[in-house]
Amino acid sequence: MKQILCKSCKQWSTDEFNCEHCGNLLNEHIIREEKYIAKHGIQKPKPPGKLAVFFEKTRNSKNPFVRLLYYIVMGIWGIYVGLVVFMLYLAIAASA
Ligand SMILES: [Zn+2]
Repeated sequence: MKQILCKSCKQWSTDEFNCEHCGNLLNEHIIREEKYIAKHGIQKPKPPGKLAVFFEKTRNSKNPFVRLLYYIVMGIWGIYVGLVVFMLYLAIAASA
């Protein structure tokens, strides 16, 4: 079985994530992750962007006109994406 030397209490542990003697973190990946979080603040899960928050607010708005506006904008966006995909398809079909 794989054993890891604990840097904290200098004893061998069979648990590869936490020292079975003192509970110290042993996994290098987790240690690095914890250091990163301590340094940069908690970034996981990523906070939603301003646009995502705006969309969420609009979608859940009590004002029916705001909600209607949201669905119109999303509809236009859907059509736009559909058009782009269609154009790409045409471009590929034309060049083939
Ligand atoms: Zn230990």
